[in-house]
Amino acid sequence: MSIYGYLGCRECRKVVYLGKIIYDNNHKPYYFSMGSRVTSHDTETVRAIFKMLTECVGHDIRVIDEGDPQMDDFDEYLYIGIAGPNGISFEDYLRDWPG
Ligand SMILES: [Zn+2]
Repeated sequence: MSIYGYLGCRECRKVVYLGKIIYDNNHKPYYFSMGSRVTSHDTETVRAIFKMLTECVGHDIRVIDEGDPQMDDFDEYLYIGIAGPNGISFEDYLRDWPG
């Protein structure tokens, strides 16, 4: 079963999609992947994460997985990197951002 991770901010009401959680042999989260790509190797995704970190200076942000009870609170948030009614693509989120 695949479990996905998100970086979320309650104050900004937005979430960056981090991808599927890959676990090590001790079942600890090891890294994130999107399809066959390692998430941290994808420049666009890393830029989106850094844009959110910049916007969230001083905020309490949290990395959660789908099993986290806080996921219910995130239902109405803006999902960065996910297509859908509450979603915005990385391309649109990063448009005109110089970082
Ligand atoms: Zn924030």
